[in-house]
Amino acid sequence: MNQTAILKQKIKEWGASKVGFGYLEDVLPENLKHLKTGISIAVRLSDEIISQIEDMPTHTYFHHYRTVNAFIDQMTLKIALELQNLGYLAMPIPASQSVNKDGKKYRGIFQHRTAATRAGIGWIGKNACLVTEEFGPRVRLGTVLTNMDANYDEPIEKSQCGECKKCVSICPALALRGGLWHPGIKREELVDAKACSMHMHNHYQHIGRGVVCGLCIRVCPKGNKVLKR
Ligand code: SF4
Ligand code: SF4
Repeated sequence: MNQTAILKQKIKEWGASKVGFGYLEDVLPENLKHLKTGISIAVRLSDEIISQIEDMPTHTYFHHYRTVNAFIDQMTLKIALELQNLGYLAMPIPASQSVNKDGKKYRGIFQHRTAATRAGIGWIGKNACLVTEEFGPRVRLGTVLTNMDANYDEPIEKSQCGECKKCVSICPALALRGGLWHPGIKREELVDAKACSMHMHNHYQHIGRGVVCGLCIRVCPKGNKVLKR
């Protein structure tokens, strides 16, 4: 087995539902370009907890969201330490962190979704979330950047949303614009991130401190089909 395959197997054993390796040099900011390989992981969310969301998030969903983020942060730290032991540079990207930089808010230092599409994990849906074939958008993502060379996975470059607009219709903030994703599309063409964030802040303060919603994840038929009733 080559090094990429060995790492993939280990990361799956540590709890990732999907793992992929993507080539990112052309999409990284200048200061991170030397870390050209992105290891993208997806951790499946609890179907039962997502399915309990009706017209607003639940306390259980908020707790689950934070628990899975913490799990992902632990896992990406473990991956980065493993890579360092092998002699490479490695940097875990925080699972959920927004930084206000260059006038841009509501985004992290590097988009997990970009790494995930490059690594063949899924496409970006009309809900602006990463959508997988197996679990729909019922996943959370993690990314490790490294200077290790890898056997890269085939990037995903086509949306499978088709004519569906269920997430667009259900969004109480009217934040989803209904655009079909393709590589290079600006995030603003898919979602008004400020409208989404303000809605959560103004309406769900009593549930998840105004940082979670989940309606556009719950409604997606790509995720619904995995429910076992
Ligand atoms: S998380 Fe809620 S408010 Fe934000 S886009 Fe999805 S449905 Fe709309
Ligand atoms: S609900 Fe439909 S349009 Fe929205 S992400 Fe899922 S498949 Fe795509």
